[in-house]
Amino acid sequence: MLKLPIYLDNNATTPMDPRVFEAMTPYFLEDFGNAASRNHPFGWKAEEAVDYAREQVAKLIGADPKEIIFTSGATEADNLGIKGVFEMYAQKGNHIITATTEHKAVLDTCKHIEKLGGEVTYLQVKPDGMIDLAALEAAIKPTTILISLMWANNEIGTVLPMKEISAIAKKHGVLLFTDATQVVGKIPVNVNADGIDLMAFSAHKMYGPKGVGALYVRRKNPRVKVTAQIDGGGHERGMRSGTLNVPGIVGFGKACEIAMQDMAEDTARISIMRDKLETELMKLEEAYINGSTSSRLPHVTNISFKHVEGEGLLMGFNKNIALSSGSACTSASLEPSYVLKALGLGDDLAHSSLRFGLGRFTTDEQIDYTIKAISDTVIRLREMSPLWEMYKEGIDLNSIEWAAH
Ligand SMILES: *Cc1c(COP(=O)(O)O)cnc(C)c1O
Repeated sequence: MLKLPIYLDNNATTPMDPRVFEAMTPYFLEDFGNAASRNHPFGWKAEEAVDYAREQVAKLIGADPKEIIFTSGATEADNLGIKGVFEMYAQKGNHIITATTEHKAVLDTCKHIEKLGGEVTYLQVKPDGMIDLAALEAAIKPTTILISLMWANNEIGTVLPMKEISAIAKKHGVLLFTDATQVVGKIPVNVNADGIDLMAFSAHKMYGPKGVGALYVRRKNPRVKVTAQIDGGGHERGMRSGTLNVPGIVGFGKACEIAMQDMAEDTARISIMRDKLETELMKLEEAYINGSTSSRLPHVTNISFKHVEGEGLLMGFNKNIALSSGSACTSASLEPSYVLKALGLGDDLAHSSLRFGLGRFTTDEQIDYTIKAISDTVIRLREMSPLWEMYKEGIDLNSIEWAAH
C-alpha cells in the first residue's frame, strides 16, 4: 500500500522510530525527575536512565560512557568541540584546518574563531567531494591545533576516509574533530579504530528525538579537553551546564541501541532501493550524479537534471514527494548550494539538483512511485523548456549572450 506524501528528506531529519518514542514516554510524566537531584528517588531514577543511555550511545561508537557529553544537538556539539579546543589549546597554537563543504554549524563556528584571532584554512574539495590528503598534510603548520572534517557530507553523502585523515593528524600531533551527524547509526563507527579525538552527532538524524545530541571527547591517548561554552551548574563534568533533557537522552540511547541491532539489515535493504532509484533516474538524458559514488552513504544520492530547475521539479510532483533541492530559491538567498558549487558545478547544474535521502521507513512502492513521478516530471518540464529545445538543436547554451534583465 502506497503512503503519500513520501518522505525522502532523511538527511534533514528522520522520523522517530516508534520503539524510541515508547522508551521515552515514562520520562515525561511519572519519571520526570531532575537527573542532578541527589536526595530523592525521582532524581535517582532520572540519573539511572541517563547513565544507561550514555552506555547505549557510547557502545554504538566504541567509546567509554565517560567520553560522552550530551548536548542539544550536533550544532551545539560542533560549537563545543571546535571552540572548546580553540580555547583549551591556545598555548599550543591558533590554526584550524577544515573544508569548504562542511555544514554551516562548523563553517560559521570557524568564522567566529577567525574574529577571535584564530587562523582557519578552508580546504577545497575535489570534483567528487573528496579531500586531497596531500593538500591536507601540506596545510598543517606548527601552530595547527585541530583538523575538523565531516565524516559524511549532508548534501551529497560523500564519505571521507577518516582512518587516513586520522593517521595524518596523529603524525603531526594535531587533534581530529569530525562532524559525524550523517554517519553515526548509518555505517559502523569506532572512535578507537578510526582514530577520532572529538566527534559530534545528533539523535534526530538517526530516528531519535530532536533537541539532543552528543560530543564525544577522547579521554585516553591522548586525553583531550575542551573549555565549556555554557557555564552554570557544572553538569556533564563541567563541560556543558544545564539540566539534562532526560526523555530526549533516553530516546537517543534507544535510537543508538536500535541502530546497532538493525544497521546491517537496514543498510542492505535501503541501499538496494537507493541503487534502483539512481539507476532508473540516470536513464533520463542529461542526468548527473553529484559527489563520489564509490565512497558514499548507502542511503543517499544527489542528482542534477540539466535544464530543469529543482524547485520547479518539486512543484511538478505536487508535494507528494518530500525532497531537498540544491536550488535555494525558497530560502532567503538566491544562491544555489555552496556544497555543489564547491564541487565545481555551475549554477545551472546546482539549481537542477535533487537530494534523495532514503531511510528505515522507505518502501519499495514509494521508490517505484518516485521513479515514475520524477521521470515524468523531468520529461514534461523539458518539453516546455526553450532551453531544452535549444540544447536538442545542438546550440551551445554557454555561447548565448543573455540580455541583462
Ligand atoms: C543536521 C546536521 C547538523 C545539525 O544538527 P542539529 O542536531 O540539528 O543541530 C550538523 N551537521 C551535519 C552534517 C548535519 O547533517
